[in-house]
Amino acid sequence: MSKPVLVIGGGIAGIQASLDLADQGVKVYLVEKLPSIGGKMARLDKTFPTLDCASCILTPKMVSVARHPNIELLTYSEVVEVKGSAGDFHVKVLKKPRYVDEDKCIGCGECITKCPSKVPDEFNMGMSQRKAIYFLFPQAVPLKATIDREHCLYFTKNICRVCERFCPTKAINFEQKPETIELKVASIIIATGYELLDPRIAPTYGYGKYPNVYTSLEFERLVSSTGPTGGEIMRRSDNKHPRSIAFIQCVCSRDVKINPNCSAFCCMASVKHAILAKEHLPEVDCTIFYMDLRAFGKGYQEFYNRAMREFGIKFIRAKPAKIEEDPETKDLIITYEDTFTGAKKTMRTEMVVLAVGVKPVYPEVIPLTIGEDGYVHLKNPHIEPVATTMDGVYVVGVAAGAKDIPDSVIQAGSAAIKASILAGGVVHE
Ligand SMILES: Cc1cc2nc3c(=O)[nH]c(=O)nc-3n(C[C@H](O)[C@H](O)[C@H](O)COP(=O)(O)OP(=O)(O)OC[C@H]3O[C@@H](n4cnc5c(N)ncnc54)[C@H](O)[C@@H]3O)c2cc1C
Ligand code: SF4
Ligand code: SF4
Repeated sequence: MSKPVLVIGGGIAGIQASLDLADQGVKVYLVEKLPSIGGKMARLDKTFPTLDCASCILTPKMVSVARHPNIELLTYSEVVEVKGSAGDFHVKVLKKPRYVDEDKCIGCGECITKCPSKVPDEFNMGMSQRKAIYFLFPQAVPLKATIDREHCLYFTKNICRVCERFCPTKAINFEQKPETIELKVASIIIATGYELLDPRIAPTYGYGKYPNVYTSLEFERLVSSTGPTGGEIMRRSDNKHPRSIAFIQCVCSRDVKINPNCSAFCCMASVKHAILAKEHLPEVDCTIFYMDLRAFGKGYQEFYNRAMREFGIKFIRAKPAKIEEDPETKDLIITYEDTFTGAKKTMRTEMVVLAVGVKPVYPEVIPLTIGEDGYVHLKNPHIEPVATTMDGVYVVGVAAGAKDIPDSVIQAGSAAIKASILAGGVVHE
């Protein structure tokens, strides 16, 4: 019999690692801090370079995780203690109360329809509203409602309980308490991914000050048919379609004062965004401001060539010095220096999208050694790129370094093999 493996983080990297382990017969505990697995990929509209629908690829994998007999999914949970060593880790997981009985909830959404309390929806980057009882997104796995205690009228004002009245299965349980689950595992795979840096740390770009400046993830939700505008690209200031969009690369990346790292996928993500903008609004004028265009993956150079030739997207090699707003029209004026000619220029555009840098996220309870670049130290980056310096602890996906989905999936498979060896090998049934 093999011993179980713990996977922390239910984005594409953690999902793939769990499936690869479970398919070999290894028992997996997959711990995700949010109410659903899916990670950032669940927020993407289409994926470069094929422009396949992201959820069409991701949702079947999420469902496989939920149905797999060898995977125990612990959502809305966090690892709070790790003791022991490789082959014999003792782990405590805190399962936060959803105030909804997961066994009884059938995901009908009746409670959500009736709930009177509205709050900004973090899944849509605050560009729409959700209720105090909610599903993280429509394809959430598990599709179980969660009560956001901070915004629920019962917890804040001792009134309401409307959800309880309308739930057909009596699943609402305001008395639910946090639960501590103890696990024994042979190895741990960290797949906790990343967060975008806050572009307000580079105030010259005007994010947070000018309504028509967006982050790349906001734009991703804006073009998505499940997003806040149903896929309509509209300006925050006047709900009108922009006639021009400027995409700015390397915002809060490759800058020694803020973050020296390259975010690896941002170049292709912006090329994708410009193509999607042209697909949604064929007349829109798209310009990408870049320092170096990193098109290293399979089909990526071709994707970038298509953007120029087929879609007429313009590329300007320059790092904008500042962005200002025309207070009357809410258009943006970009000042930049052309790196080929050295000339100082300005460009007016109706929308700006910032390709913001990323920072990795790690579970605090695991004493990982973090390097100066902010990423976890690897045992040997050349020949053991998924092993941390802690025996039996592996790291995959963007938590191991900025990368795209295919590379995250490759790393997940690699870590699954390493973890299964420590777990006692593959079980043949
Ligand atoms: C705007 C944008 C567009 C992109 N477009 C593309 C594209 O078209 N194609 C492509 O290949 N790549 C694209 N990417 C990159 C892609 O998002 C990443 O490669 C991929 O999401 C990495 O997956 P991950 O599992 O490593 O991390 P994540 O997706 O960040 O998943 C990490 C998961 O871990 C959870 N977690 C974090 N901390 C904890 C904890 N302590 N305990 C438990 N759970 C935790 C998180 O809630 C999350 O669910 C894009 C990125 C951006 C920002
Ligand atoms: S009790 Fe809370 S979650 Fe339930 S309907 Fe009222 S506000 Fe919404
Ligand atoms: S809590 Fe009840 S009403 Fe809400 S989704 Fe679940 S079963 Fe439906």
